[in-house]
Amino acid sequence: MTSPLIYIEVAVALPVHNTYTYRVPEDLSPLALTGKRVLVPFGRRRVTGYILGVCKNIHPEEIKTVLDILDESSLFPSSMIPFFRWIADYYMHPIGDVIKNALPGGLNVFDDHMVSITAKGEEARVENSVTPLESEILNLLTAAPCRLKELRKKLHQQIPHALMYAMEDRGHIEHTCKLKGGTTKPKVERYVALTDSNMPVDGLSNSRKKILGMIEAQGEISVKELKAVVPSAAKLIKHLEADGYISIFNKRVYRDPFGETISSDIPHNLTQEQTTVVSTVMASLGRKFSTCLLTGVTGSGKTEVYMHLAAKAIDGGYSVLVLVPEIALISQMERRFRARFGEGVAVLHSALSPGERYDQWTRIVRGEVAIAIGARSAVFAPFENIGIIIVDEEHDTSYKQDGGLRYNARDLAVVRAKLQNGVALLGSATPSLQSYYNFKTNKFKGVALKKRVEKRPMPKITMVDLRKNRDVRGIQRFITPELHEAMRTTLARGEQVLLFLNRRGFASYPVCSACGEAIQCKNCDISLTLHQKANAYKCHYCGFTRAAVSDCKTCGSSKIRLLGLGTEKIESTVKTLFPDATVARMDRDTTRRKGSIIKILKGLRNQTIDVLVGTQMVAKGHDYPNITLVGIICADLSLNFPDFRAAERTFQLLAQVAGRAGRGSVPGNVILQTYNPDHSSILYATAQDFEAFYNDEIGFRENLNYPPFSRMVQLKISGKNKEKTRDHAQALGDLCVDLKRNDRSFLRSLEILGPIEAPIPKIARHYRWQILLKGRSVKPLHGFLHKVWFENRAAVQNRDVKVVLDVDPFFMI
Ligand code: ADP
Ligand code: ZN
Ligand code: ZN
Repeated sequence: MTSPLIYIEVAVALPVHNTYTYRVPEDLSPLALTGKRVLVPFGRRRVTGYILGVCKNIHPEEIKTVLDILDESSLFPSSMIPFFRWIADYYMHPIGDVIKNALPGGLNVFDDHMVSITAKGEEARVENSVTPLESEILNLLTAAPCRLKELRKKLHQQIPHALMYAMEDRGHIEHTCKLKGGTTKPKVERYVALTDSNMPVDGLSNSRKKILGMIEAQGEISVKELKAVVPSAAKLIKHLEADGYISIFNKRVYRDPFGETISSDIPHNLTQEQTTVVSTVMASLGRKFSTCLLTGVTGSGKTEVYMHLAAKAIDGGYSVLVLVPEIALISQMERRFRARFGEGVAVLHSALSPGERYDQWTRIVRGEVAIAIGARSAVFAPFENIGIIIVDEEHDTSYKQDGGLRYNARDLAVVRAKLQNGVALLGSATPSLQSYYNFKTNKFKGVALKKRVEKRPMPKITMVDLRKNRDVRGIQRFITPELHEAMRTTLARGEQVLLFLNRRGFASYPVCSACGEAIQCKNCDISLTLHQKANAYKCHYCGFTRAAVSDCKTCGSSKIRLLGLGTEKIESTVKTLFPDATVARMDRDTTRRKGSIIKILKGLRNQTIDVLVGTQMVAKGHDYPNITLVGIICADLSLNFPDFRAAERTFQLLAQVAGRAGRGSVPGNVILQTYNPDHSSILYATAQDFEAFYNDEIGFRENLNYPPFSRMVQLKISGKNKEKTRDHAQALGDLCVDLKRNDRSFLRSLEILGPIEAPIPKIARHYRWQILLKGRSVKPLHGFLHKVWFENRAAVQNRDVKVVLDVDPFFMI
């Protein structure tokens, strides 16, 4: 039977905005299912594409043919395709790249063009019968075949395509195309099973009998397991197979990212408040799309609510997606969910190896698990039938991806719930202004947990004015007598202390004592931070490193004053002040290695750590009941950011970190040190009064027409050449102004701010400019962007200057 000829819509994994139609050869057509990958010709090369569905209305003459189908089964269900299309449209990002971003990495294959020298070319090289440039090229190629791009780089000059073709025609070089990539693969292991359990075993050796016994007991067993018991198993099974006892085959297995087993727990009986939340959310499940905002003070039992909801959704035949802002918290959430739901939980985050991620992904697509927990990229988990998407700590900025596909997973969770008729539940003790506004304007339903469980009191916050210590020299300026005393009594009671400072390193502002110049990064407009343990100055933006013994680059003096503090300095001070206490530090420097975060958190849980010093990594939803004192070293660091969200971030960070105190039976204390005791963000955080903060801040946003009262898109312009970058930014700005002037519909609905130089004008040798577009709503903004981005492609694109779009930008520096 021949299958009908079919045509499919394919999104190729390249930066192109369109999708393309391909013909599927008859022998492959039964396999060409939506959600699988295909290998297709595209221009001169072969690339991976994703099948989005079957096409009708075709002009068969122009259509190319699929070369291969790359997956045994679909990588994502067809119900996700509208979601992918939505993302591509909203963020104006190539759809193939959207899907590539969603899928586990390392799967795709693509053509790699290499140039190599032929025997004839070698002769010509030796005889030196070619031009100097050709001779240089041939010399380079004798070492190894090479990509054209590399060739250009090595020769520091443009090589005309015509020259390459001429050399190829003369037979001196040849082009080869080789498929590369596809490094992530299913893991298979050798397995054995009995062919016939009635075979006589008399006369077999004991080892053979033992092997057969083991197989019989388990049905099938891996060769690896057999070898562990019978070392010669590898050889013996071959004989057993030859004699017809057993069959040996390959079986797909999953790599195990968990490592340890977790004992199960028993659900708590919900409090009255928790019960109300669960039933309100359940009222929407399976009926129609809705978004609920759960505001629950720190320690009010939100996680318990999530688990109850998950259990109910699963009972109803739905799957559940839980998003958590970062890995340390995922591991905590994962532990609690696995204790409750056992093996039915998949995890997705960046600390998994590509293979582990692929396996977790497969468990989800195959419907083997009903719950997935992960960081922002888990919003793409390939569930068919999502009932509920939970976004924990929804205010957290790590939901925003700041590079490549610049999406916000919190927003996408709501979009996905809407497209799949599910419920989105956003939870936080300190909701984002955006979400709270949506609740106030009835776009979101509101549910609340106002009390901590078991009547535990909220922590008591004491503010300490750092200004009175201005003249104190040394570290006493930052470990004030109040904080010092509180630490002493807390440690004496055998309880734990958390110290928070949102800046890593030892000294963040090293300055030359002789000439007064700050020690600057050579690639960025920013000062270097001294890292004592690494014995080096480091740039936190580009990674540039300089030896700690370096002299001042301006005057050559070796006397450097180490101004500005960081977590490393606090850690070493605490060690001096409390020599008997075990002090640990959690920031990006101490958590680079895989597993290091988990190790620190374990130390907290087992109480082998007395004092933990950390950056915002410690501020987030951790639950450690024996922490009874939180010290905020300097509450002001994020206040002066050139960003309209600075006050919001500061409030959230302070309220969150304060919420780490007193989560067990002993009440908590917080000492908040600040230079700005009258600043509203700090006052509201001290009072732990979100509502008051909101009422204040929302007025400011409305007056200045900032989100949530407007939508923003940022054009980020950067390039290596200072003048060219500036000129292109100006030209782009002029284009925007012209487009606005020529279309009356934009006149009142759209504002163009800039171009301006970015707050950090140079990072990693790239000069940076910005244009900010503010629209009253999404529609005019998108209409305008389409004009700029698609209809004026030539004016936007530039060889030396890169322009990227950031829709709903978060990081304005
Ligand atoms: P949140 O996520 O809001 O910070 P958690 O869910 O972590 O709060 O709950 C805080 C603590 O209270 C946890 O140790 C949890 O086990 C416990 N807890 C939660 N709900 C209940 C309940 N209904 N009864 C008793 N203990 C509870
Ligand atoms: Zn730098
Ligand atoms: Zn100097």
